[in-house]
Amino acid sequence: MTGFDAVFVGSGINSLAGAALLAKSGWKVCVLERNDWLGGALRTVDGLIAPGFTHELFASWHPLWTGSPAYAELKPDLDRLGVEYLNTELATGTAFPDGSCAFLSTDSDANTAELGDAWQRQFDGFMANADLAFGVLGTELWSGAGLGLGRQAYFRFGRRGLVEFTGGVLSSARDWLTETFEDERAHGLLAPWVLHTGLGPDQATSGFMTQVIACALQLGGMPVPRGGGVKLVEGLAAIVRQAGGELRTEAEVERILVSGGKATAVRLNGGETIAASRAVLACVTPTQLYGSLLGSGDTPRNVREGAARFRYGRGEMQIHLALSELPRWKGDERLARTPIVHVTPGLNGVSRAVNEAERGLLPAEATIVCGQPVVVDPSRAPDGSWIVWIQLQEPPSVPKGDAAGELDTAAGWTEGLREAYADRIVERLGSHIENLSSSTLGRVVLSPVDIAAANPNWVGGDIYGGSCALDQNLLWRPLPANPGHETPVENLFHIGASTHPGPGLGAGSGYLAAKRLTRPPLPRRLLARLPGF
Ligand SMILES: Cc1cc2nc3c(=O)[nH]c(=O)nc-3n(C[C@H](O)[C@H](O)[C@H](O)COP(=O)(O)OP(=O)(O)OC[C@H]3O[C@@H](n4cnc5c(N)ncnc54)[C@H](O)[C@@H]3O)c2cc1C
Repeated sequence: MTGFDAVFVGSGINSLAGAALLAKSGWKVCVLERNDWLGGALRTVDGLIAPGFTHELFASWHPLWTGSPAYAELKPDLDRLGVEYLNTELATGTAFPDGSCAFLSTDSDANTAELGDAWQRQFDGFMANADLAFGVLGTELWSGAGLGLGRQAYFRFGRRGLVEFTGGVLSSARDWLTETFEDERAHGLLAPWVLHTGLGPDQATSGFMTQVIACALQLGGMPVPRGGGVKLVEGLAAIVRQAGGELRTEAEVERILVSGGKATAVRLNGGETIAASRAVLACVTPTQLYGSLLGSGDTPRNVREGAARFRYGRGEMQIHLALSELPRWKGDERLARTPIVHVTPGLNGVSRAVNEAERGLLPAEATIVCGQPVVVDPSRAPDGSWIVWIQLQEPPSVPKGDAAGELDTAAGWTEGLREAYADRIVERLGSHIENLSSSTLGRVVLSPVDIAAANPNWVGGDIYGGSCALDQNLLWRPLPANPGHETPVENLFHIGASTHPGPGLGAGSGYLAAKRLTRPPLPRRLLARLPGF
């Protein structure tokens, strides 16, 4: 039996960042991945459609990573290893059906000119308490640090003020947007971003998430690594290997072995056992962790039952296009310089599409996330050609009908339904990009079923590792019966998108778990507070 200090189950961004941080602290770590690639949602494929084109099959945009404490800590190593981030001034825009548009950039004056004084007012208001807002998303909430954050908020606002502030955090995107901006273009610019947090614009906390994203976009733009996400994966893997750690693909963990209430090893599906003397970190869903990786005798019944009730959100679709020409967007020339353009009728359009999908219907007018990675990284496609990375964050996991009344969904997500629905999307996008159809060299479409097959964490095609509704988020993620990253099993930590602070490439849970494992013992922490130490 081989042995390590820590073993990670799965190689998503949370595992890779957590493993790199532990490795740099002197731990001998092992990352085990069932797929034949490392990185989970970070999957860069050369020549997916045509030679010379580099596509991101899944995740593409790295603002959460470049703004994360994990990146801040690992950046010197990643720089040394040649991981380079590229960025643009224009971050996002929305193209409306009538040909009008709205944009958000990293230039505060340009944003005020675009969206009026309301933009600057909301930005200043948010930034005054940004430490608390980002603190909620970067702190182990059920810990001394979480309590400290609560105390900080109490001393800043007082009792009544704290109630008011928390009420604001709970508001929906619809309420926040309509109270903040008169201009409906501003609603349509920001409402689609709610989908990137796994929510809809009428759900509790979606207003808070919209503010976080809006301000983060002005502050950080839309960075991507030169050459694709694989460069980040390779960089993090190199940090682990250079410290004596190992990363293995095609190594599926089927069991976490528990002895005396403590996680001591994992067993692969071929029978091999790998010992973990200090920690096992599982980057999986609660369903897998408590339903199959642990035995029923290893955890309390209420936690197992809570995990069995864990809910998954809507499905997701990806449409990848390679174009032989640059896109000729109709209307504003900035559209061709914007890495993420949403195509939607606006706030009500997003709301309607989400509602249709929640009812099991294929949205008649889905919110199209049109990603253009070549804007930021020209190395992704041959000169004069283009890549379109389309994301649909609304489709139902199991379609029960078509809101447009056109497609037959009775057999579920068949290849036929997948392609027919993609046709609808591409045709709508084609009404904004006049040479879309004539310049398309080929396309690859992934339905929620294809997405689910790529990663057991994407149940039903939910790329966010479980519904992000309030009762399953923040203080309650992953499970009200066992929130946070510690589990009822000693030395076993739960990380990944299903855990706080949820999905995205920010590596928050991997970072928090690594920090928890490498923090000095209590006496040393107390001594460190004394003057002179
Ligand atoms: C299509 C798509 C587009 C996205 N776009 C963006 C984006 O542009 N920007 C952004 O910030 N976020 C994006 N996201 C969300 C973000 O990528 C994910 O939330 C994040 O990457 C999840 O990371 P994770 O650490 O939870 O692990 P995951 O990426 O879920 O990886 C977990 C890994 O664990 C492996 N695994 C699971 N069980 C086992 C087992 N028993 N044994 C061994 N291995 C196992 C899986 O095979 C997988 O490789 C996107 C996600 C998807 C799917």
